[in-house]
Amino acid sequence: MSKSLVAIYPGSFDPPTNGHLDLIARGARLADKLIVAVLQNTQKKALFTTAERCEMLTECVAHLTNVEIDSFDGLLVDYAARRNANTILRGLRTVSDYETESQMALLNRRMRPEAETLFLPASAEHSFLSSRMVKEVITLGGDASTFVPQPVMHRLEAKFPTRK
Ligand code: ADP
Repeated sequence: MSKSLVAIYPGSFDPPTNGHLDLIARGARLADKLIVAVLQNTQKKALFTTAERCEMLTECVAHLTNVEIDSFDGLLVDYAARRNANTILRGLRTVSDYETESQMALLNRRMRPEAETLFLPASAEHSFLSSRMVKEVITLGGDASTFVPQPVMHRLEAKFPTRK
């Protein structure tokens, strides 16, 4: 029997960016099933609620039939076990991403060896892009429309009515 690849792509997605969407599209081509899992609000003060982030992601991936949007709290490896996922998908933009991501991958493998972390390099055109940067641009009155998908831009405009 052939194995199926069930991958979880976890993150804060506050808000989802074109970089996230690129990774989701590429992950969906590799995996039989891709679960995009929004980390539920913890101590970090978030711009969007978990529900809002899930709604934006759902609108953005409507065309991808093997992608599911979900949210979780607690340990990622426990969530992966509950969802029978054998792969954790993460994106790598910079060397500093690699340092934190490789530590996290080793920790997760120690806790749950069955779940393998798979890194995809960021696409060149998105390698500078982060949710934090989008938030900075929009709160300073800049135009974030080339950094985020349409459904996200609409929400940003609703939250910051005077901004583009
Ligand atoms: P977290 O708070 O878990 O880092 P993020 O939403 O910032 O959540 O990122 C989730 C994942 O998406 C991480 O693996 C991150 O490296 C990746 N990622 C973020 N932005 C990009 C991008 N522009 N291109 C590729 N991957 C990205």
